[in-house]
Order: sequence, then C-alpha cells, then structure tokens
Amino acid sequence: MISDLVIIGGGASGFMAASVAIDNGIKSIVIFESSKKILEKVRISGGGRCNVTNASWDNSNLVGNYPRGEKQLLGLFSRFSTIQAFDWFQKKGLNLKIEKDGRIFPQSDSSSDVIKCLSYAAVKAGVEINTSSHVKEIKISNTGYDVLLQGNKLHRSRNLLLCTGGHPSGRKLAKQLGHTIVKPVPSLFSLSLINSPLKSCSGISLNARIKLVVNKSKFVETGKLLLTHWGISGPVILKLSAFSARCLYSNNYKAEIFINWLCKTDHEIRQELNLFITNYPNKSIWNYRPFVDLPKRLWIVLCSASGFDASYKWSNLSKSDKEKLIQLLINNKYNIKGRGPFGDEFVTAGGVSLKEINLKTMESKIHKGLYFAGEIINVDGITGGFNFQHCWTTGWIAGTSCSFNVNV
Ligand SMILES: Cc1cc2nc3c(=O)[nH]c(=O)nc-3n(C[C@H](O)[C@H](O)[C@H](O)COP(=O)(O)OP(=O)(O)OC[C@H]3O[C@@H](n4cnc5c(N)ncnc54)[C@H](O)[C@@H]3O)c2cc1C
Repeated sequence: MISDLVIIGGGASGFMAASVAIDNGIKSIVIFESSKKILEKVRISGGGRCNVTNASWDNSNLVGNYPRGEKQLLGLFSRFSTIQAFDWFQKKGLNLKIEKDGRIFPQSDSSSDVIKCLSYAAVKAGVEINTSSHVKEIKISNTGYDVLLQGNKLHRSRNLLLCTGGHPSGRKLAKQLGHTIVKPVPSLFSLSLINSPLKSCSGISLNARIKLVVNKSKFVETGKLLLTHWGISGPVILKLSAFSARCLYSNNYKAEIFINWLCKTDHEIRQELNLFITNYPNKSIWNYRPFVDLPKRLWIVLCSASGFDASYKWSNLSKSDKEKLIQLLINNKYNIKGRGPFGDEFVTAGGVSLKEINLKTMESKIHKGLYFAGEIINVDGITGGFNFQHCWTTGWIAGTSCSFNVNV
C-alpha cells in the first residue's frame, strides 16, 4: 500500500495542506504526528484564543513583519495572503473577528474552534491521522519515499510534506535528505535586566520607544512595553528580539537598552518640564508630575534614580538635575543579562534554507515530491498572527502543488 501524500507534523501548516490537498482531489493522505494530540500549538496559541492572522491586507506592508523571509514571502503572499486566509477560514465555517490593532481571532475567542475547523475537513475526507507516531527516518525509494516510524513501522508515499515546526527532529530529517539548515536560534522572547530598579514596577504597561544596542548594531522600535519582575517584555520587546535574534544570539544575549519613556523628543520634554516648573515651583516632585501618562510608581523610580527624594520640590531642581531627569526620560539605559524565563510567543528563526525550495510550489529543489511548509523553513514573523499566516500560506501552496504530482 502506498499513499499519495504523507504529512509529517500534525500542526497548523500540515492541516492546512491536508485540507487543501483534499479539496484538490487527493484521496490517500496520511498524517504522522509525534505527540499524543494534533494541533497542540494552535490550542495554546494567543493565550488560548489563537491569533489566526492579521488584517494587514497590503502584501508590501505585510512582509515587513517577517525578519526572515521578507523578500521571498512577497511572491508566496501573491498566491495566498491574509485576505485569502481570512476568507478560507470563514468559508470553512470559522467566524472571525478583527481587533482594533489588526489581530484576527475566532469570534468565540477559543482556539478549539480553529482546531475543529482545521481537523473537521481532514477527518470527514478520511485522512488517516496517526498521533504518537514519531518519524525517525526517511529514505528515497523507486516509488517515492519510505517513512520509518519509531517502532520500525514503515510507510510508503509518493509525496512527502515535512512540516514539523521548530522541532529539531524535522530539521534532522531535512538534513538527512540533503537540505541545508540555517542555524536555528530563538526568536520572540522577553529580556532580563541586570540589577534593575524597574523590578518594583512589575505589571506596568505603557508605550515606549526602545533602542537596543548589540555590539555596533542598533534596533529601534516603538510600542507597548511591559515591565516584569525579571526585566522587560511586551510587543515592542518581542519585536526587537525578532529583528535582533541573530545579533543577540552571537553576542550571548549581552546588550544595552535605552528607553524613551514618553516617545517624545528632548525639545518637547524640556518645554513641558519648564512650563511645569514655572507653574508649580513649590510642589513635591514625587507627587506632582508633568507627564501624567507615566504611572506614578515608575515616576518615583525615575526620580529616585535621578537622586531626588520625597522632600524635593520643583524649585530645588538645579540645571544639572534637570538634565539628569531629561536624560532618564528619553535615554534611560539598562544592561541586558539575557533572555527572559518565558517566550511569550516563542518561534525558531532559521530552518530549511529557502534557496533549496521552489517558492512557487514549496517543493524541494533537490527531491521531486518532497515539500516543506511552516516553521521548519527559514521564515519567521513577529507577534500579531504573522507566524500562523506564513504557515497557512506555505501549507496552502504545498497542498495545492502536490496535487499536480498525483493523478486525481
Ligand atoms: C505559546 C505560543 C503561542 C503562540 N501564539 C501564536 C499566535 O497566537 N499567532 C501566531 O501567528 N503564532 C503563534 N505562535 C507561533 C505558532 O504557534 C507557530 O508559528 C506555528 O504553530 C507553526 O506551525 P507549524 O505547522 O509549522 O508547526 P507546529 O504547529 O509546531 O506543528 C509541527 C508538528 O510536528 C510534530 N513533529 C515534530 N517532529 C516530528 C516527527 N519527527 N514526526 C512526527 N511529528 C513530528 C510536532 O509534534 C508538532 O505537532 C505561538 C507559539 C507559541 C509557542
């Protein structure tokens, strides 16, 4: 018995590919999934809500959200992009909603509905789904591929889709088949700070402009920053970590960070400060602050770092005190100790080199009938639904193209 298509990895990209392959008439499809459950990452994604994609409809803007793969994704998205993914899920019966910031979630706010949607078509069409089925080796045969599972069970297939996500075993299989692996490094993580007084501000979230300096490379982003008891997190840090992932890795995660707490220029802050000092000279610095967007807890930490105690009044502020305060507000420096203890939306940067994949079909340039999709390839995005989007896109293209290799 030989299958038309074996999919290794029962995750987002694998199920998208299976569903599309079914719609294109492929009959015998088998999924092998190592773990006990399918679509486990979809289940835990987006805090259990699953951020399916993003309402970034313009492909030339969309690709800017991918630190790796930006150039190559433009062609892939011209075939199946965010709008096609949005329509695809709605047509398959999953109602979606767009949040203010552009992130798209199931209307039910439940990732289990995304799982139902993806698995329903596969189960209904009779796709053979094997969980607890770890693929340990792939051999090229006269008819296609011999897939060797843990326990030495053998399965034959004409076509093979490798979509094992960030798991090292999938990269190992790709390497055995002759593909080059771009060194995997983590992306999308929080940062720990060395001896930071910001610890006492844990839980505060605000907009900030951040400059990250790793050796001589500089990365600047503006967005929501979250202060934690170990350091800094939030969308702006995850974005910076994604764009600096390789630099940070090479520098053993040692770096400096400069925070502009108000996203304002030196000139703007100076003007506001001068006006406030003129109007409220006898008020306490700790209790009366010109910048009401800065939470009081954080303001007091910054005042203390500038050397002003609770008794300080605005009229006590010397010229050099004022300069110190301005610098702390626009250029507050901290040293990075390393990655934070948790990855909020951890993905792997690196994977199968795009140079060895035909990006019109997602087929290997080395072996006919071998396809790749999802996180296993050297593509990754920032938070906001962009990681699933490239899984839907590459899964859809792989599922569509392999049906041309099968007489349906
Ligand atoms: C906590 C968390 C939250 C996230 N939230 C979001 C979000 O809201 N939106 C977003 O866009 N992205 C999110 N992501 C990223 C997203 O989950 C991934 O980009 C996506 O799941 C990758 O899909 P995939 O199909 O490539 O791989 P996966 O979903 O990882 O699926 C690969 C499957 O292959 C299996 N496998 C591996 N090796 C083998 C083998 N040898 N044999 C058989 N099976 C094997 C694995 O067990 C796994 O089930 C999140 C990630 C995490 C960790």
